[in-house]
Amino acid sequence: SYRKGGYHAVRVGDQFNGGRYVAQRKLGWGEFSTVWLAYDPTTSTYVALKIQKSAAQFAQAALHEIAILSNIADGDPTHSKCVVRLIDHFKHAGPNGQHQCMVLEFLGDSLLRLIKHNRYKGLKLNKVREICKCILIGLDYLHRELGIIHTDLKPENILLCNTIDPAKDPVRAGLTPILERPEGNLNGGTTMTLIEKKLKRRARRAVAKISLRRESMGGNEPPKPERNLDGIDVKCKVVDFGNGCWANKQLAEEIQTRQYRAPEVILRSGYSYSVDMWSFACTAFELATGDMLFAPKVGQGFSEDEDHLALMMELLGKMPRKVAISGARSKDFFDRHGDLKRIRRLKFWPLDKILMDRYKFSETDAREFADFLCPIFDFAPEKRPTAQQCLQHPWINRSTSNQNEMKSKSNVEKVNVGMSNPHIKVGK
Ligand code: ATP
Ligand code: MG
Ligand code: MG
Repeated sequence: SYRKGGYHAVRVGDQFNGGRYVAQRKLGWGEFSTVWLAYDPTTSTYVALKIQKSAAQFAQAALHEIAILSNIADGDPTHSKCVVRLIDHFKHAGPNGQHQCMVLEFLGDSLLRLIKHNRYKGLKLNKVREICKCILIGLDYLHRELGIIHTDLKPENILLCNTIDPAKDPVRAGLTPILERPEGNLNGGTTMTLIEKKLKRRARRAVAKISLRRESMGGNEPPKPERNLDGIDVKCKVVDFGNGCWANKQLAEEIQTRQYRAPEVILRSGYSYSVDMWSFACTAFELATGDMLFAPKVGQGFSEDEDHLALMMELLGKMPRKVAISGARSKDFFDRHGDLKRIRRLKFWPLDKILMDRYKFSETDAREFADFLCPIFDFAPEKRPTAQQCLQHPWINRSTSNQNEMKSKSNVEKVNVGMSNPHIKVGK
């Protein structure tokens, strides 16, 4: 992808926007861009520099993202709305073409990484609550104040705020600003920095060690450090507005990442802000349990879409006929009675029961969490509570002091990960 029209190769110490930003290390990448930690010597701050691929369609996508991000930044002068802040943007000319660049506030790990670090066991409920509150503040701002739908909300697109400010406390943050390109890094190695190479070598060695130990311990999982959030104020922000849109200027019919996709999107019944609420509730479940709520698969005689609808109905009950037959694609899945055409005999397993049976929640925890989530999982989009309404819910506003019964679920043995295909299907 490092060719004409593709990514821009960056080396540590490279300067951008006339020397304003100096590349430090790669933070991540996506389909459209690479994202670098950069240092701004004029303000002594660190920023995230998102460098878009150069081909015309990527440049156009970047301009759209910049327009959305500018709208977001303009309405949030106090930076309190739990949405990533665009600081600057410019074009950068390189050997592969002209690259649109976005300068964003520097944030930390994604919630997906947090779930992984926690070995897919789920976070404590008081942390889930704090994270949910931030996401809801962000969604309420986007929906009610700006008229923007995110359309791709998921753990990967929510980043934790850095608890240490690297500009104020570089030692604890483990960062020292690099102001120019280090010696000996001039030729080659453009796609991977020296630091990355070193880390990769170390990682390879570590993996080798682990597999040795695994053999000697008879296949036991090696102990890995867990990310402990105790005593940490869990603030986070919504990122990645590449797929965002204004509700009155919708572009795409198929939106959202599969597992977080709302039923009306599958059925093509039209959508609005409430699709983000559906994804939000899926994300909240995943934070609390470590498992994706819906993980549909293609099967014999039925599609991934039909499996997805079946999984939803096993959790939430039968979709009301009126809703089921309302979409342009309804006839692909439902007969005229509102029953699925190819998947029969669904096993109803409601959310509070799942939380107790599979995840060993106490009855109170399960009931209260399910009471918060279930209204959001309404098949009728217009009946779902808004972000503003969710912020009023008792579960969100429970005081964090009476958390004693919010016990960690860390001792629960998990045999089966994911909730894929628990129902019985009849292929035609
Ligand atoms: P996608 O294919 O997901 O649309 P993309 O090219 O639009 O990818 P992003 O998802 O915006 O890129 O960013 C890619 C990665 O860079 C993120 O997953 C994250 O790890 C990192 N990243 C993005 N923005 C920031 C930020 N503000 N602070 C820290 N890291 C960031
Ligand atoms: Mg992304
Ligand atoms: Mg994107």
